[in-house]
Amino acid sequence: MLLDTHCHLQFKGFDEDRGDVIKRIAEKGVVLNIVGTQKNTSKLAVELAEKYENFYASIGTHPVHLFPSHIDEEESSFKSREEDFDEEYYGELVKSKKVIAIGETGLELYHLPKDKTVEEVLKKQKEVFVAHINFAKKHDLPLVIHCREAHEEMANLLESFGRNIRGTMHCFTGNWEQAQKYLKLGLYLGFTGVVTFPPKKTNPQQQIDLLEVLERAPLDRIVVETDSPYLAPQICRGKRCEPWMVEEVVKKLAEIRKMEYKEVEDQVAKNTLALFTRINA
Ligand SMILES: [Zn+2]
Repeated sequence: MLLDTHCHLQFKGFDEDRGDVIKRIAEKGVVLNIVGTQKNTSKLAVELAEKYENFYASIGTHPVHLFPSHIDEEESSFKSREEDFDEEYYGELVKSKKVIAIGETGLELYHLPKDKTVEEVLKKQKEVFVAHINFAKKHDLPLVIHCREAHEEMANLLESFGRNIRGTMHCFTGNWEQAQKYLKLGLYLGFTGVVTFPPKKTNPQQQIDLLEVLERAPLDRIVVETDSPYLAPQICRGKRCEPWMVEEVVKKLAEIRKMEYKEVEDQVAKNTLALFTRINA
């Protein structure tokens, strides 16, 4: 069984042909965690999850939405709306049995608002992240954690909670040293199609480091994801990413660990069910 632990099937990028995408997902029997990034996308995620048996949802506010800022990347361009963590709003959504996690939430120092200092941004992000952690504990749910260019701050913050936090470091792209800190805390590592990319000419070490993590991480602490519509794996590069492409991440993992595909798929599925205990598959 394939489980995509992080996708955004509710995003606008799927509005025109979501039905076709859902058909392709069903053909491969993929189970999804549709991840919210602010209030409306969290609500849409829950609505989609309520409609389809194999779909589940996560709810929360992504750190880029805490300040208005313009996000412009290879695969996305949008003006980010300012939003806070609205506990009352999420308190209603979390009543759905299809909500399996809180997030995505975390720290993000890559996209920074122009009119704020890093200290100001970090202070706000930490405050909101801690609110998510407490909310997740209160509802006994794991966290879907986003971390970009803030591993030191993230590890320090998480360490202050001890081994009390359940969750996955979504789209992990760090090195082995960073990975070990999260693993020590009992967290899972979520890998996307990024593991299939060739090394960047400007910084080949980054990919070497990432693959080292893929090779060394305990096999029972790995989950896979697409982050679709972003980050299509290498063989689909340039196209919109879709949740069923998660099999490419499993293939890469099998190749790196010199294991059979099926064996890896089964182990990763087991891990996913151990972490996201509300999945009924
Ligand atoms: Zn995401």
